[in-house]
Amino acid sequence: MLGLMQNWQLTVDKIIEHAAINHTNREIVTRSVEGPIVRTTYGNIFTRAKKVSNWLLGQGIKLGDRVASLAWNSGHHMESWYGTMGIGAIMHTLNPRLFPEQLVYIINHAEDKIIFTDLTFLPILEAIHDKCPCVKAFVVFTDGANMPPTKLPNCHAYEDILQGQSDISIWGNFEENTACGLCYTSGTTGNPKGVLYSHRTNVLHTLLTMGADVMGLTAGDVILPVVPMFHANAWGIAFSAPACGSKLVMPGAKMDGASIYELLETEKVTFSAAVPTVWLMLLQYLESTNQKLSTLKQVVIGGAALPEHILRSFEDKYGVGIRHAWGMTETSPLGTLGTPGPEAANYSREEIIKTKLKQGRSPFGVELKIKRDGKTVPRDGETFGNLMVRGAAIAGAYFKNEGGDILDEEGFFDTGDVATIDEHGYMQITDRSKDVIKSGGEWIGTIDIENCAVGCEGVACAAVIGIYHPKWDERPLLIIEKKAGANPTKEDLMAHLNGKIAKWWMPDDVRFVETIPLGATGKINKIALRETFKDLKFG
Ligand code: AMP
Repeated sequence: MLGLMQNWQLTVDKIIEHAAINHTNREIVTRSVEGPIVRTTYGNIFTRAKKVSNWLLGQGIKLGDRVASLAWNSGHHMESWYGTMGIGAIMHTLNPRLFPEQLVYIINHAEDKIIFTDLTFLPILEAIHDKCPCVKAFVVFTDGANMPPTKLPNCHAYEDILQGQSDISIWGNFEENTACGLCYTSGTTGNPKGVLYSHRTNVLHTLLTMGADVMGLTAGDVILPVVPMFHANAWGIAFSAPACGSKLVMPGAKMDGASIYELLETEKVTFSAAVPTVWLMLLQYLESTNQKLSTLKQVVIGGAALPEHILRSFEDKYGVGIRHAWGMTETSPLGTLGTPGPEAANYSREEIIKTKLKQGRSPFGVELKIKRDGKTVPRDGETFGNLMVRGAAIAGAYFKNEGGDILDEEGFFDTGDVATIDEHGYMQITDRSKDVIKSGGEWIGTIDIENCAVGCEGVACAAVIGIYHPKWDERPLLIIEKKAGANPTKEDLMAHLNGKIAKWWMPDDVRFVETIPLGATGKINKIALRETFKDLKFG
């Protein structure tokens, strides 16, 4: 027997429509690429997104066609995003930090028909457009007056294409499992793979992230997503902010400490989200200029492990609460978030810190298990193995079935991360499975050593890789990028680590490099580091 409730399809166009009706004048503020701060509202975003839809329909875009964006977070990006998804086309967010060859591969693999972009990225597209014959038109987020001459064929200024378009367009005339967004994984091994979100999974993900123990967003919040929309939908904020009616502050191209600080203060931001490197830049700026944060209350940090000193600085020095999150493109992206639960009521400050440094618990809708040698291991906070995930908004296959069957016999996806889960459900990442160091039959997690090493005076960034050892198979090498003007030594680092990590995890050597290479999503590029140190041998 079926239930007798209304069949309200979970499609994302309803999110922006809800915001336009209920939070009509709530602002979306953008630092534009041209320079000035520009303001719009959910009401305007909705109307202009409808115009985008009509222009796309006029270009022959149909249900299931891919429309790409190569753009910073902005109000315009949101309009084109909802305008695309509303008619059942698929918004494919391109990551401008990828190498040109990877962009070419991704655009062709996705068969993008139209690309929306910012002025900043014209040179990238001009260099590759002739290798992407599938793209029939380009649209630059600017007006006719600011549109430079360009070699791109069929290239329009955004304001020009909206001119004369009707703001009436039928949205959501399709079922909720229809694809709505496409985002490629960073592809550290092999070609990038496409994660194809559906309307239903994006709506469910939005609902699960809004919970008080998760992001806990409210209509009163002013949210600054530094995390880009091309990084798994700005961790869902491009959906959850309008769903709540929160004010949005979009940083555009500028993510340095001074620019972020200016927006946080002038727009009275209460909530923000970014990877640790962005927060490091902000903290360094605050320290060097001796400034305070007057409105920011809560920050979500994820994408890479939260270093302890960032947690302590934000909470103890600036009075800003930190929520540590883990997720990946394949998990829409939020998988876990670390808000301490009732068991932490009588914890000491140090115990709270320890708990908050873990990657957190899974909200309803995300199931986790740790698997080693084909078996699920106990939730004891110690036994580590491969982190597996299943749930309402988790990838079931990659676009065009690249990589084949990606689920285990119980329907869980192997995240490629190595982790533990404790008795309260807190998951802690110890490594990527391909980065874990196998030493004498045991595993050494590199993240713990790295986090500990960045706490040493004068260290800007730390990375650990495994180096061949004739007796132990692999042993850790610690690689350090120094802070400008600082000069920590190998002895300083070994003394700092001593007693903080297991004795047999102590690195066999420490090497200093000018800069530690980062990949397209701001993570340490260990493949490049392994290449640099490929001739090094221990033992
Ligand atoms: P991406 O799909 O580019 O977002 O990358 C996802 C990967 O980033 C995960 O599989 C983890 O390896 C890593 N990651 C994300 N969040 C965290 C975190 N809080 N701590 C450690 N690693 C993380």
